[in-house]
Amino acid sequence: MKNTAQQEEIKAVVRPKMAICYDFDHTLSPDDMQTFSLIPSFEIDPGDFWHESDSLAKDNLMDKNLAWMFELIKYSKFKGKSLSRDYFRRVGAEVPLYKGVEEWFTYVNEYAESRGIEVEHYIISSGLKEIIEGNPIAKYIKRIYASSFLYSADGIAEWPAQSVNYTNKTQFIFRIAKGILEEYDERVNDNMPHSKYPIPYENIVYIGDSTTDIPCMTLVKSKGGYSIGVFDPVSKNKKKVYQLFNDERINFYAPARYSKDSPIAMYIRQIIDEVAMKEKHKEEIGQLRAPAEAYKRRVTISRAFSDLDIEMSKEEKATVEKLMNYLDEGV
Ligand SMILES: [Mg+2]
Repeated sequence: MKNTAQQEEIKAVVRPKMAICYDFDHTLSPDDMQTFSLIPSFEIDPGDFWHESDSLAKDNLMDKNLAWMFELIKYSKFKGKSLSRDYFRRVGAEVPLYKGVEEWFTYVNEYAESRGIEVEHYIISSGLKEIIEGNPIAKYIKRIYASSFLYSADGIAEWPAQSVNYTNKTQFIFRIAKGILEEYDERVNDNMPHSKYPIPYENIVYIGDSTTDIPCMTLVKSKGGYSIGVFDPVSKNKKKVYQLFNDERINFYAPARYSKDSPIAMYIRQIIDEVAMKEKHKEEIGQLRAPAEAYKRRVTISRAFSDLDIEMSKEEKATVEKLMNYLDEGV
């Protein structure tokens, strides 16, 4: 049996976990990530690019992500500009972020730590993984789930490797909850008792801005977690978040501003406090369960012996008494 100091030490190391999952475009960054420098590098107007890409998807009953990935490869060949992983990362380094995003992760981690909680940050985006990997915030993110390309031996984008959109965003919530993080790992579909989830759904937060986030928002909220809708703090256009809120997809909405004094920071502090309280309750319930179950075993065994109604030798009686005393110790 470990002493109290050892138990406290273990508790300090193995803290309950929370996950905060973020959409990227219009959630952490004010526009679509391809729009800032990637599309202009082909000397095309971003509006024309998206119009052409959406028309391609519509005319061919195509997934919108696969359409813009196709368009990028088409333009790169047409303009003689190779799309390498390194190039995408350089583009990502220049993608602007909303106010406070760069300091957000350290702040949230420190606040959570002060409440005995460990936070993991994940990005689940329909945008391009390689661009996000180039952004300075990538170092704070445990895993980036996003659309990505398959590269040739020369490191040039050739074909879509992943297209992440709508309901297929939700598989990553299941992966995060179950701790089965690799995109190809089919064990994510295996049954797992709720008590074994490394990050139970009620400890997950999803932050997003639009219709592509609805499946994740709904999944997380319906399973006891928290969904937050954000809107652009400059345009202050709240139509989407009002709709998400009225349709009960989200718990909270706030401007996409991430400084310590922002509404979203306040909601996250409240959520962390609530998760810490729930985890404390789970721990206390676990402590109460042990002696209650020992009592149940004691009663069951005692009844079994009295129902047997058999003569016992002195030694047998002593053995039974010893067993009962042992069981009493746990009650
Ligand atoms: Mg978005």
